[in-house]
Amino acid sequence: MAVDLLAFPFIGGRTTLDFVATLGKRSTAKLERMRTPEDLARWAELAGLGTISADEADLEAARLLREALYRLVLSTLGRAPARPADVGMVNKWAAQDAPAPALAIRSRALRRNDPAPTASAVLAATARDGVELLTGPEAASIRECEDPACTLLFVDTSRSHRRRWCSMNVCGARNKMRTLRTPN
Ligand SMILES: [Zn+2]
Repeated sequence: MAVDLLAFPFIGGRTTLDFVATLGKRSTAKLERMRTPEDLARWAELAGLGTISADEADLEAARLLREALYRLVLSTLGRAPARPADVGMVNKWAAQDAPAPALAIRSRALRRNDPAPTASAVLAATARDGVELLTGPEAASIRECEDPACTLLFVDTSRSHRRRWCSMNVCGARNKMRTLRTPN
């Protein structure tokens, strides 16, 4: 099965973790999937955060927020202390105005008529998700895929709380093959 390495992973179970996953293979070569402003817009659309247009400044801001969120997730995993600068970055974005939901009447029926979000609103929504994730009940269930080359993060919602792989189809299967090849 061919895996498109540049495809955005959406296995995190939370917007924050899917956003962090736009930089892959963090322990080794680092695979930047958010290469252009259009990539940021495409991620936002796939993440269900709306249709936006983004420019280079938005892309740079998105990457900075992403890395701040990543380091804060690592701090909840006990890998490093949380940095005040990262907290400040998340708070700055979380405080941005986000478009309010709105109604409209069409053919006498009520319809949803939210204003189109901006790139800033997408980063605001992501930062707010980060605040809730990092301080909520799911913080204790954040795991990193056990494949050392993978580094994808996810919320372990399995009943046993012993999920090891980002995906059984990719890392789980690869590890199973490896185990089969090395008899002990
Ligand atoms: Zn994995």
